[in-house]
Amino acid sequence: MNLQSKIYIAGHCGLVGSALLRALGTYGFSHLVTRSHAELDLTDQTATEAFFAQEKPDYVFLAAARVGGILANNTYPADFIRDNLAIQTNVLHSAWRHRVRRLLFLGSSCIYPKLAPQPLKEEYLLTGPLEPTNRPYALAKIAGIEMCWSYNRQHGTRYLAAMPANVYGPGDNYHPQDSHVIPALLRRFHDATQRGDTSVTVWGTGTPRREFLYSDDVADACLYLMRLADADFDRLLWPAGDADDSSALNLAPLINIGVGQDLTIRELVELVGQTVGYTGEVQYDTSKPDGTPRKLLDVSRLNALGWAPRTNLPTGLATAYRDLLAD
Ligand code: GDP
Repeated sequence: MNLQSKIYIAGHCGLVGSALLRALGTYGFSHLVTRSHAELDLTDQTATEAFFAQEKPDYVFLAAARVGGILANNTYPADFIRDNLAIQTNVLHSAWRHRVRRLLFLGSSCIYPKLAPQPLKEEYLLTGPLEPTNRPYALAKIAGIEMCWSYNRQHGTRYLAAMPANVYGPGDNYHPQDSHVIPALLRRFHDATQRGDTSVTVWGTGTPRREFLYSDDVADACLYLMRLADADFDRLLWPAGDADDSSALNLAPLINIGVGQDLTIRELVELVGQTVGYTGEVQYDTSKPDGTPRKLLDVSRLNALGWAPRTNLPTGLATAYRDLLAD
């Protein structure tokens, strides 16, 4: 990928997509292609195909997806499986037809089995049952990984799947019910502080552990991966041997993106309280779901390539909070 390459960022208005757009701009990539949801509905196969035929991008970051927090996943399961299956099927197929050189498919750490050993290594994919609250989303993403793998095997494409930890950052969705935990808590603690409330409610028991990754760090890791030399990139596509080797069927073209550390929701609540300056009480509503007990990613594959995140959680939370205030 060089500075003149034509690069399509699918989902450039989202949390990761907008961070990708910023990062590509900062590095000096000048030939960026974007379409808003209103301009191009990626669940529409004909429209997606027409777009690729017209633009013929060299590189694709597939960050377009239907995403949301634990309650949104539980409330709209049909939307989560249908939209994600449709988007990725259309984009991966058209990218092959129009000879995209490399594609990075973004998913999430919820693709791993609910009770897999921690930290989660890439090879734990498909080794056990999933967390039910986000199973429709996770299964769609697993199908996307399998599609990347299958197109690489059958058509010689270079599709890599990258699974980030829970992402947060500027431009997040602050919806009270549908958002992820960090934007939800920033909003709720901020509103409580403004109103002078003495108690705030947090969902679940506070005991689940989560790993959080700042959106600009995800974008940086994605660029790092897409700019790897061919030999290094191909080793990620075929970690168990080359495409013709029968052992190639054992390991997916998959890489985790994370910080390698997690904390409990209770500890996160402390940090968010400090960021916002909230001093009141916190109640835990255990009628709301906890989700999976833990999903800490093993990031040794990415670290071995020389990449590490730059933003620690207190710094990232402070930036995210400034973004909420500016909203
Ligand atoms: P998950 O990692 O897929 O479970 O995604 P979320 O970011 O939605 O939730 C993470 C954890 O935060 C879960 O254990 C939730 O129970 C907990 N949590 C606590 N309060 C909230 C909240 O207000 N919104 C969300 N989305 N999660 C919350």
